[in-house]
Amino acid sequence: MADKPRPRIIVAGQLSESATERLRNAGEVVFLKKGDERTLSGAVMEADALVVRTYAEVTHKVISAAKEAGRLRVIGRAGVGVDNIDVRAAHGAGITVVHTPAACTSAVADLTVGLILAVQRKIVVGDRKLREGEFKSLRAGVPDVRELQHQTLGVIGMGRIGRAVGTRLHNGFDMRVIYYDIREIGLLPFAAEPRRSANEVYAEADVVTLHVPLTSLTRGMINEAALEQFKQGAVLINTSRGPVVEAQALAKALEAGRLSGAGIDVFDPEPPPSDHPLLSAPNGVLTPHIASRSYEGITAMNDVVDDVIGVLTGKEPMYPADPNLG
Ligand code: NAD
Repeated sequence: MADKPRPRIIVAGQLSESATERLRNAGEVVFLKKGDERTLSGAVMEADALVVRTYAEVTHKVISAAKEAGRLRVIGRAGVGVDNIDVRAAHGAGITVVHTPAACTSAVADLTVGLILAVQRKIVVGDRKLREGEFKSLRAGVPDVRELQHQTLGVIGMGRIGRAVGTRLHNGFDMRVIYYDIREIGLLPFAAEPRRSANEVYAEADVVTLHVPLTSLTRGMINEAALEQFKQGAVLINTSRGPVVEAQALAKALEAGRLSGAGIDVFDPEPPPSDHPLLSAPNGVLTPHIASRSYEGITAMNDVVDDVIGVLTGKEPMYPADPNLG
């Protein structure tokens, strides 16, 4: 009897050595140099599985090509946030999408806390000015710095990361926590008060932190009108997705002093071009989309290959992505 052909697994983006090894044990592995729509549309026609990271464009067109060829069975997203995959189209085409929803919850929450402290305590500016020879002037007078224990944290999106951030800042820093989520959030492991709308959170919070997925509802949700609702001098933290915030509107609010600072890990587009409004806006602490990049986070994201291999061998997916998110 002829041997069953080994599945062909294409990978757009880097994987760890261990994850690559596990894939190689399960099939023929081909790494693509690019993850754009055109490259993927061609590649998926001759693949049983596709593994992607943040920037691969698994669009409706890619899924249509895969559907027509009738070979692709599973797409694995090594990471959190499936906004780069048309999950609904994949579901309709009978292609399973798996991801690693809890892989980097702690890593993102840690960085979020870091950004809040960096912005409010002016850590980055202090470091730069000290190296430039300033010291005494930075210690003069009474600073306009308020301690976190006297501030209200506003969480938009009380999912995994929102909760991890709330836990850290309430239990560790004594912040009062309020939040808004589109779904009913049950009992939380720390004290937090729900609000009926995002606007109510904006109006009350000293620090607003975004932990929503990028969907048609959240794209551009922090725009000029939303920023007008913010408390004077509030801080905005975005470790979710760049397009959730209208960069021009945020830059204007920072320039006008409506907001006292922002901590931003994600941009639209990425990398941000040199004339991106947030690169020149005052009082920003910017990081290059590194919130998830801890050793543990990256290791857990690479584990998506186990789910992909499982689906290829007929197992139920462990972490299927929700086709209704979009
Ligand atoms: P999650 O699914 O556990 O939580 C998201 C929450 O947002 C849910 O409770 C959901 O109901 C809520 N939500 C959805 N739409 C909303 C809306 N319009 N208004 C209010 N709430 C809304 O996801 P998570 O693990 O907490 O991750 C959140 C997002 O963080 C991811 O989707 C991803 O885009 C982003 N992320 C970024 C990085 C990074 O490196 N910067 C890493 C991981 C995740």
